[in-house]
Amino acid sequence: MVAPTLRERSVLAKQLRLDVAQLTDVGRRREHNEDNMAFVIPKDPLVMANKGALFIVADGMGGHAAGEVASEIAVDTISNMYYQDDSEEGGVSLLRAIRRANASIHQRAAENMLRTGMGTTCVAAVLRGNIAYIANVGDSRAYLLRGNQVVQITRDHSWVAEQVRAGLLTEDQARTHTQRNVITRCLGTQADVEIDVFPEQIEEKDALVLCTDGLSGLVSDDEIRRIVDQSGPQESVYHLVERANENGGPDNITAIVVSVQEVGSEPPNTRHPVYVGGREIGEDTAVLGVASGSLVPAAPAMFSDSPAPGSSLRYPSGPLVSPESITAPQPI
Ligand code: CA
Repeated sequence: MVAPTLRERSVLAKQLRLDVAQLTDVGRRREHNEDNMAFVIPKDPLVMANKGALFIVADGMGGHAAGEVASEIAVDTISNMYYQDDSEEGGVSLLRAIRRANASIHQRAAENMLRTGMGTTCVAAVLRGNIAYIANVGDSRAYLLRGNQVVQITRDHSWVAEQVRAGLLTEDQARTHTQRNVITRCLGTQADVEIDVFPEQIEEKDALVLCTDGLSGLVSDDEIRRIVDQSGPQESVYHLVERANENGGPDNITAIVVSVQEVGSEPPNTRHPVYVGGREIGEDTAVLGVASGSLVPAAPAMFSDSPAPGSSLRYPSGPLVSPESITAPQPI
């Protein structure tokens, strides 16, 4: 008997099915929108099974021209590089794609004095099979909604968030603090960047929300949950943006809502999940630390960026993204 090919196996395997919508809005006070967003859901079942779907939100800074450029480079570079990377580990590919975005923005800033200080936050999620890899730099957030719970998966890299973690400020104080916009990490301002990656098991009917602080600073976690619970992604993104505007809309507002219709099979060649619990893992070890079951914020996993041992899959270099995939329209 002939063993099924990789393509046949990927078609036979249970596919992840997602419903998604995204929306960005300039808000009520700003003249320009420096946020950017994008998603990629590959149509090719082989690419979908092996690389999964990708969602990115970025909040640019450094003044109008610089901020828009930085957030755009981030979403473009990550969506291209992720699908070109040959690692089987979604978390490793995502990490490398974000590092590449950091280098591209840093280089662009160095080429032009007017763009000194150009940077962007970034929150990105890969959903593949039954696992999500969520990565962030800065204070754009990812929330996971399950049942009647909402959990902020990412940890903000901001001054106020550090004060909250140290027990020096409450969440409510942080929300209105004059220093709430000060972030402690971003893409583009340094040659290298530290990126957190959070692996999460996903379940049917879960929803994932990626957003900038123009939403999370104006609409409470519980209200985000309530809005997303009430309707599908299309209506949800509209109501989330509307609510942030009703609350003043002082900043640009961006949200992606992903609803998990059906989870897929475990990704091919996935090594068994390992809990990392914030433990330092050696640089030569790629670890899939998957938190499953209860919804509690996990510590970021440590991913090595060297190729996983025993890799058998290789992707050709060159864009796998277009024209085989649905790429969301960019905001106007
Ligand atoms: Ca912002």
